[in-house]
Amino acid sequence: MKIKVLASSSSGNCYLMQSGGVNFLLDCGIKKNELIAKLAQEKLTIADIDFCLISHEHNDHSALADYLSNFMNVYSCYNSEYVKKIDSNKLLKLGSIRIIPFNVKHGKTENYGYIINDGIDNLLFATDCNLIEYNFSIPFTKIMIECNYIDSLIDMSKEKEIRQVNTHMSLENLKIHLSRMNLDFCKEIYLLHLSDECSDERIMQAQVQSLTHCKTYIALKKGGVK
Ligand SMILES: [Zn+2]
Ligand SMILES: [Zn+2]
Repeated sequence: MKIKVLASSSSGNCYLMQSGGVNFLLDCGIKKNELIAKLAQEKLTIADIDFCLISHEHNDHSALADYLSNFMNVYSCYNSEYVKKIDSNKLLKLGSIRIIPFNVKHGKTENYGYIINDGIDNLLFATDCNLIEYNFSIPFTKIMIECNYIDSLIDMSKEKEIRQVNTHMSLENLKIHLSRMNLDFCKEIYLLHLSDECSDERIMQAQVQSLTHCKTYIALKKGGVK
């Protein structure tokens, strides 16, 4: 499965996934023109996208659900007129792609991660959460997971940053989550949704890579990886 980061931050999230001629989006929290331009860079149009899968209803993840639902099925587990509702913990087969949604903790907002299997890769996608309780049985070959902030960079006198602690994944918490996963076959880890003020790309990348021995990429705010 090929992963192209189109946008990743609290200002907007969208990932283009490609597997054996199937193109799909994970989250669609960007502007329409931005999506069209970024797809064009990959020589694609909206018509080439087979489906979209959304983690949760926050605008930075779902802004284009309404628009995209005119062209393709947009799936998630929350209720919305633009979304085809799928069941958490239940296998969804879309052609060659198999998806298991699972609940993750994001404050009071309903939010879902996905295990996505295309017959070659077994990928974990989870963003905007500070707790993943799902018991993963199969090892992952690729992981896309939030790494929002570093504990020591949080200013607890700022209300916004306290909210961040309660709803997002810190580097320290991510390391605990990763240490519980079977990473024997993991080739790549993508760190998503970095905070503008409370993250440090260099420290996050170095610490995750040294813990996991997996090639670790930072998903950049405006697309691409480092
Ligand atoms: Zn978000
Ligand atoms: Zn959110």
